[in-house]
Amino acid sequence: MLRSLPALFAVLLGACARSAVQQPVVLSPVRIDSAGTAAATAAAADSDAMSGAAVTVGMTASPTPPVRSVDDTPFATTNRIDWPGPNPYRSSNGAPGPQYWQQRADYTIAATLDTTAQTVSGTVTIRYTNNSPDTLSFVWLQLDQNLYRPGSKGSALFPADSRWGVRGFEGGFTLADVTVNGRAAEVKVDDTMGRIDVPGAPIAPRGGRATISMRFSFRVPEHGSDRMGRDSTLYEIAQWYPRMAVYDDVRGWNTDPYLGQGEFYLEYGDIDYAVTAPAGYVIAGSGVLQNPADVLTAAQRERLARAAKSESVVQIVPESEARAKVTPGTKTWRFRARNVRDVAWAGAPDFRWDATSWNGIVTQAYYQWPKAGPEWEQMAEGTQWTIRTYSQLWYPFPYPQATAVAGPVGGMEYPMFVMDHYTEASSPGEVFRTNDHEHGHEWFPMIVGSNERRYAWQDEGFNTYINAFSQERRYGGDPSRWPVGMDNFASYLANWRATRGLGLDVPLMTAPDAVPASALGAVGYRKPGAVLLALRNEVVGREAFDRAFREYVRRWAFKHPTPGDFFRTVENVAGQDLSWFWRSFFYSSDVLDLGIANVSERQSEGERFAVVTLTRNTSVPFPVSLRLRLSDNTTQDVRLPVEIWAGCPGGCERFDAVVAVRAPVTGARLWPSRFAPDFNASNDVWGNAPAADAVTPATAGGLTTPVGAAATALP
Ligand SMILES: [Zn+2]
Repeated sequence: MLRSLPALFAVLLGACARSAVQQPVVLSPVRIDSAGTAAATAAAADSDAMSGAAVTVGMTASPTPPVRSVDDTPFATTNRIDWPGPNPYRSSNGAPGPQYWQQRADYTIAATLDTTAQTVSGTVTIRYTNNSPDTLSFVWLQLDQNLYRPGSKGSALFPADSRWGVRGFEGGFTLADVTVNGRAAEVKVDDTMGRIDVPGAPIAPRGGRATISMRFSFRVPEHGSDRMGRDSTLYEIAQWYPRMAVYDDVRGWNTDPYLGQGEFYLEYGDIDYAVTAPAGYVIAGSGVLQNPADVLTAAQRERLARAAKSESVVQIVPESEARAKVTPGTKTWRFRARNVRDVAWAGAPDFRWDATSWNGIVTQAYYQWPKAGPEWEQMAEGTQWTIRTYSQLWYPFPYPQATAVAGPVGGMEYPMFVMDHYTEASSPGEVFRTNDHEHGHEWFPMIVGSNERRYAWQDEGFNTYINAFSQERRYGGDPSRWPVGMDNFASYLANWRATRGLGLDVPLMTAPDAVPASALGAVGYRKPGAVLLALRNEVVGREAFDRAFREYVRRWAFKHPTPGDFFRTVENVAGQDLSWFWRSFFYSSDVLDLGIANVSERQSEGERFAVVTLTRNTSVPFPVSLRLRLSDNTTQDVRLPVEIWAGCPGGCERFDAVVAVRAPVTGARLWPSRFAPDFNASNDVWGNAPAADAVTPATAGGLTTPVGAAATALP
């Protein structure tokens, strides 16, 4: 989903502003695996009981205990399965276990776009494979178009005129002729979910199959909650067919409804789909076009073949040919997408269409001209940039093509296919950055198929994290040349800080639909981006974290990782116990505030020692990086492990670091490399503080080695 809203800060001032000084919120992470869990839970409950006045940003050191506030929300704490296992399905080291399983859903869809009635209608056949150890007597479908049914939960939750609102549109799915294995069945609709009781024998475990078929239709909303929609003759179609809900080893059926703000959780499979549209239309979509001879001219096919072998942009439909004209009849465009969790498509009678390629992957841009701004003439190249960059940094792009379409949707992602706004160009490079973000979603969640509806940080957060790498690559390492609006550690931290200042921050583990709408950009995107960059640059170390992050992607490509699978993978690959980090930054909304209280000196056996008294002013511990200025005007850097804050009942609030120095200390500064998310800079310096490092790229170091060929492509 779109990473930024131009009006974010204006919006922030509107809804549900609380006091400007925010109390931290702490959730109780609950592991359900072992006897140790009960003790840990009890300990957490005890510490909850001692909660008192919270110390917040900007206040000075306090003698109150560090763990001092709990404001559990029932929405977040009812989820007790963030960290399942270890068990045969999910291993203690964070990898899929020896008996890991997941369901499979293959689809065949035939649909017609009626531009007069503004409807999509057709048939879907789902071949569902039950690889679980459970017998299934019923299945759940996701019926996302029912968001537009009058009285839907989402339409009640989000104001009608908001980004996720339904704008008074009345639509929803009409379903008919439902069968399972050829026998008549019924969909019991509950908001955006639908249950089908399997007629006859239930679906057997470990490979049992069912074939589910039905007819469906819906009116296309103009504003499809910023994930689909139409504008005059342009249609962007997504969430458009009944999709299987995910059945997994963690929650069984995942039946969280589609409310608007939370995104999707989907099974993998192969999807064949056919779109019948007015003959003058060009259809762009997920997957590979199967019948170019039926729908493209000979000249277009020749240009496409050239683009597939060229790293330069080829115009498939140049401006001179991108004209809507009355053409009688219809054409059917057939696409096939392998090993995907979804498909989406768009159609218009007047698309310009550019294409190029990299490493055999065709990258394409479709846009109406001149309605789409001039930056769109670079988006076939922009898409090529993104696909190449993330393939080299994280995991090889496994699909044959990647498409960007300009339209009314601000920014939304589907396998091999993204929608970016056609006029968004508030600053140079804005379309590139939106497109880079949307195609970044090909890695999260299209390749690594986490549950977006519950954990935005595993989707938007990871994507925002990798976007910083792509943009530093594109714009170079000199911060003075970075464009306004570039995504990096400083901009992520600023957005988190602003959201917290408005009292809207919540823990990262909060489900997106329970995050204040105007805080989603921070909580879902930039706060996890900043937290991960800090984890890499200040805690784990660049080389170790890059290795761990790549390993997470490799292990969970085309699978369903939980938060715990990520936490365990990082801990195992990096070789560090990071429970304090997860607790502080994922389960709590408290923020980091370490300070320098004093520096004194003592001498022992002829040696000189500086005693730096450090304070921890919130519940958040952190390893310390410190730069001392000595009286001879040299500097000395000191690093202290996070364990300095352990070893006291309830956690230590002060630590005297005793450092051998060659001359008296005249000044000190915390975080000289600038990558700690410390919310209170006023106590980070003492005396005649030495300078911090020049601003350097947050993503520098490591990542020089491209992902090896050993990383698998399509399984
Ligand atoms: Zn996104």
